[in-house]
Amino acid sequence: MKVAFQTLGCRVNVYDTEAMAEMFVQDGYTLTDFDSVADVYVINTCTVTHMGEKKSRQYIHRAKRQNPQAIVAVVGCLAQVSKDEVMAIEGVDVIVGSRDKRDVVFQVNRAMAEGKQIVAVSDSLLLNHKFEDLGVTGYEGKTRAFLKIQDGCNRFCSYCIIPYARGGISSKNPQVLLKEIEALAGNGYREVILSGIHIASYGQELAEKMDLLDLLEAVEQIPGIERIRIGSIEPMFFQGERLSRVLALTKLCPHFHLSLQSGCDATLKRMNRRYTAEEFAAVVKALREAIPEVSLTTDVIVGFPGESEGEFEETAAFLEKLQLTRIHTFKYSPRKGTPAFNFPNEVESAVKEDRSRRVMMISRRGEEKFLARHVGQVLPVLFEEGKNGVHLGYTPNYLQVRVPSAVNLQGKILPTKLTGLKGDVLQGEILVDLGFSQPS
Ligand code: SF4
Repeated sequence: MKVAFQTLGCRVNVYDTEAMAEMFVQDGYTLTDFDSVADVYVINTCTVTHMGEKKSRQYIHRAKRQNPQAIVAVVGCLAQVSKDEVMAIEGVDVIVGSRDKRDVVFQVNRAMAEGKQIVAVSDSLLLNHKFEDLGVTGYEGKTRAFLKIQDGCNRFCSYCIIPYARGGISSKNPQVLLKEIEALAGNGYREVILSGIHIASYGQELAEKMDLLDLLEAVEQIPGIERIRIGSIEPMFFQGERLSRVLALTKLCPHFHLSLQSGCDATLKRMNRRYTAEEFAAVVKALREAIPEVSLTTDVIVGFPGESEGEFEETAAFLEKLQLTRIHTFKYSPRKGTPAFNFPNEVESAVKEDRSRRVMMISRRGEEKFLARHVGQVLPVLFEEGKNGVHLGYTPNYLQVRVPSAVNLQGKILPTKLTGLKGDVLQGEILVDLGFSQPS
């Protein structure tokens, strides 16, 4: 039997899909592309934006067109928040909620055997703090292991559906996690990426007294792990004495994705973000002073209800001043069930489009400057894939570097001179003798 997957949305969803794929393989299924004929199609959905939801629906229809006899399983955020609507979509055989993914194979097999629609969606997840450990075990062919350490969120930003779609904070058991990382190190992994929905909340609900900093300090002690990266993180995590503990971590990579969302205090307040633009700028300043090579990226939402031209100008000026490495821009999309859904003064699509374009231009300028200032530097690069004599790798601050090499560099961390820029990719030259001359 063949199973095909389609994943929408965030990196955490990608992780969940990998875990579900492993479960199907363990049950005897073989994996195939979503574009080919399969017996089972699993769509791991997203509902964070209107676009994520629209695409989720398109893939449901596409799966059924590809093989009308196939079992179509709709899993994750959309299934969780719009269960009844998903049940009503023609051709949907299995509906599995955000914290019920562990049972996906069982439910699919059940739908096949019983020939009826199966719905496995837990009721309101807001008070559900149980971490669903899907436990990906295979990371073949990769040099970096992505680990989901946390799920859910209880911050309730006014625009965000995530607390309803993914539930309350739940953290992976630290002992289990540390053992997994030790095993990964034993298998040659040099870098781990610790990610989740709101990782700054890691450990809050655990009986063990272990927060994110304690966890990072414990991972730092694991021999063989040379780099630790963290996913998107709450900017205020770096405030106060936590910053000095962060700076003492020698393996933590100097790339932080700090979600800003707006540079205007009035907009931030309506968004229920719990910081001011000034506080965010202070974190950026402190990180840059302490780690000159730090790369700081962010997310910004444009066209939030009531965002006047003046408010947007404040955000634009703030971003221009900060000169971050990259800004991911999102046009606000109302999510039913969130407070902002009912906020007045909607911003027109054309205005959102224009603001998004303006933020992207600011982002482009910041990125160009940041990349250009690295030309001529020598940095350790962890190489990943290689193809046709060209290898790609990443610096500690997450800049992509392309290097010509006749030998396989995958998994190696090598001192590399950054010689120039092609588009937005740095070109490099390895500074150790690899036993051959590098083509230029
Ligand atoms: S912090 Fe806010 S935006 Fe981020 S997941 Fe939680 S509620 Fe959503």
